[in-house]
Amino acid sequence: MKKKNVKTKIEFKKDSYRRARGGYSRLLELTCEHCKKSFCQYQKDGPGILKRLYTDRMIPEPTRTSKQLVCGNCDRVLGALITYKKEDRPAYRLFVGAVAKRIVKSK
Ligand SMILES: [Zn+2]
Repeated sequence: MKKKNVKTKIEFKKDSYRRARGGYSRLLELTCEHCKKSFCQYQKDGPGILKRLYTDRMIPEPTRTSKQLVCGNCDRVLGALITYKKEDRPAYRLFVGAVAKRIVKSK
């Protein structure tokens, strides 16, 4: 029996958004607080708490952005689509207590 070797190597996006936040990033695993299922990974740039999810930082990046961020497992609505005005950048504003996160260790 051959074990499939799945190596998910995440390349951080390095762009002006990242530079504007200090030039470093962490990889977060995001889970639905309601059903505890992971729904995506996320490149968090810079310090501070996670208030919104920029769609270009979601892994995998959504191919189309719906108005609401919905848990694919329990259908709970986790956030609402906004445009972050300062950067004219689409993002999901997270509802308080809807999403849990943990830092993914990168080697
Ligand atoms: Zn859920």
